[in-house]
Amino acid sequence: GPGGYTAALYAARAGLSTLVVEMLSPGGQMATTENVENYPGFEDGVDGFELGEKMQRGAEKAGAVTAYEEVKELDLAASPKLVRTRKHEYRAKAVILAMGASPRMLGLPQEEDLRGKGVAYCATCDGMQYKGKVVAVAGGGNSAAEDALTLSKICQKVYIVHRRDTLRAERSYLAPLEKAGNVEYVWDSRIEELLHDGRLTGLRLANVKTGQESTLTVDGLFVAIGRKPETALVEGQVEMGPGGYIAAGEDTRTNVPGVFAVGDIRTKPLRQIVTAAADGAVASKMAQEYVAGLA
Ligand code: NAP
Repeated sequence: GPGGYTAALYAARAGLSTLVVEMLSPGGQMATTENVENYPGFEDGVDGFELGEKMQRGAEKAGAVTAYEEVKELDLAASPKLVRTRKHEYRAKAVILAMGASPRMLGLPQEEDLRGKGVAYCATCDGMQYKGKVVAVAGGGNSAAEDALTLSKICQKVYIVHRRDTLRAERSYLAPLEKAGNVEYVWDSRIEELLHDGRLTGLRLANVKTGQESTLTVDGLFVAIGRKPETALVEGQVEMGPGGYIAAGEDTRTNVPGVFAVGDIRTKPLRQIVTAAADGAVASKMAQEYVAGLA
C-alpha cells in the first residue's frame, strides 16, 4: 500500500537495496477506493487503484524491486532478518512492516459461507453485482458512509444498519447521503442472524434499546465495521498496542531494532493514505540510520 511503496521510494532513492514483497497487486486498501478525494494534489480525486500503480512505478523507477509472493514467515530477531516466502528466503538488514489492515467480520454463523453469496466487505469491489437490488450496509463509520454512498448510485435501495442512533462518520458524508434519496437508516439495531437459502435473503435484527426483533429483506449485506491489522506474521515478535496494532510511534520504530511499522498496521491517531505515505518516508529514514549503524 501507500506506506510500503513510499518507504520503498525513499529507501531506493537513498541508495539502499530495496525489495517490496507484495502478495497480489499494489495499492492495498487504497486500491478498493474508486475515487480518493482526500489525498493532496488531486483536486478532482484520483482512482485508488491507479494511485497504487503510480506509487509502485515511482518506487521501481527509483530502483526498488517488487517480488509478487506471499510472506509465510518472518524472523525479525535473526541477523540479518529473515523473510521467507514459498519460493524464496530473503535476508535484510532492516524490515519495514506495511501489511495494513483487513475488514472486520460480524462474527455471525454462516458469515464466511455467505461471503460472495450476498455478504460482501467492499462496496467498490462488489457493488456492481447488486445493481438495481436492495442492500444493507452494517456500520456507522467513514467506511459505512462511503460504502452506502457508492451503493446508492448502483442499487435500488440502501439501508444503513447501525447499533447507535447516530453515525460516527465525518459530517461531510451526511448531506450526500440525504441527497441520494434511496438511503434509509435503521438505527439502534444489531444484526442477529443472516437469513439465507444458500444466498443471503435478509437480516434478523434486534433493537438494542427495546429488544424488539424485526426482519429486513435484502439481496446483499456490505459489512463495514472497521478493520483489523494484519499482524499474524509478527505475533509474539514485536510489541502490540491497543486494538492489536503494532506499537510504534511517529518515528515508526517498533521494540525490535531494525524493524519499523508503517500505515494502518501501527498504533496511530489517523489511518489515511497520506499518513501511511508519511510513515513510509519516516521509516525509510530510520532504516537508513539503522543500516548505517547510526541508530
Ligand atoms: P471505524 O471508524 O472504526 O467505524 C466502525 C463502525 O462500525 C463504528 O460505527 C462501529 O460502531 C461499528 N461497529 C464496530 N464493530 C461492530 C460490530 N461488531 N457490529 C456492529 N457494528 C460495529 O471503521 P471504518 O469506518 O472502517 O474506518 C476505519 C478507518 O479508516 C478510520 O480511521 C476511518 O476514518 C478511515 N476511513 C477514512 C475514509 C475517508 O476519509 N474518506 C474512508 C473510509 C475509512 P460504534 O460507532 O458503535 O463504535
